[in-house]
Amino acid sequence: MLDANVLVLNRLWQAVNICTARRAFSLLYTGQAQVIDVEAGKFNTFNFEDWKDLSAAFEGHEEVARTISFSIKIPKIILLLLYDKLPRSSIKFNRKNIYQRDKNTCQYCGESPDIMSLNIDHVIPKVLGGKSLWTNVVCSCMTCNLRKGGRTPQQAGMRLIQPPKEPRWQHLVRFNIKTMHHESWKHFIDTAYWNTELENDEDK
Ligand SMILES: [Zn+2]
Repeated sequence: MLDANVLVLNRLWQAVNICTARRAFSLLYTGQAQVIDVEAGKFNTFNFEDWKDLSAAFEGHEEVARTISFSIKIPKIILLLLYDKLPRSSIKFNRKNIYQRDKNTCQYCGESPDIMSLNIDHVIPKVLGGKSLWTNVVCSCMTCNLRKGGRTPQQAGMRLIQPPKEPRWQHLVRFNIKTMHHESWKHFIDTAYWNTELENDEDK
C-alpha cells in the first residue's frame, strides 16, 4: 500500500516524477508538499492536517494507510511547494535508467540489439580515471564494447552518437506512464508532454 504510485508535480503544476506513497507522506508531513485531489474536474489542494481530516471520511476505504492513532487516504497526486525540480539525486543512477535514457540503443553504432546484448560503457574508461557519472556512461552493444576495450572513443577511432547527459524528469515520467496511471493524472501528464516538446536550454 505504501508502495503505491503517486504523481509528483512541481510548483508550476508540471509532472516531474512518480514517487511512492511512503515518500509522498514524508513530503506532506514535513510541509514540503500538498495533496492535489481531483473531484468533478476541479483541483483541490490539502496540507497534511486537512488531508488527514478529510481521510476520516474514508474509514474502511481500501486506499487508506493506517497508523497507530489515525488513518490517512493515499494521495494520487502531490504538489511540491519548494522545488521546480526534484533534487537531482532522486533519479537513481542505475542500469535501468541508463538504458532508458539511451533508449536501449548502442551509443556508438546506433543498433538496438536484445537488452541482454547491451552493456554499460565508460566513455573515458575507469582505468584512465573515467568516473561513473551520467556524463561518462553510455549504453553500448557487445561488439562496440569489445572493439573499444580500455580506450577512449578517440583512441579507438569511434564516435558517440551524442554526448551522454543526465536524464530530464519529463523524459522519465513519459516513459513510466504507459504502465501505471490514474485517470486523475491525465491532465498533468498531457501538460508534461507539451512542456517537454517546448523546453529549451534557457530552462536548464
Ligand atoms: Zn554498437
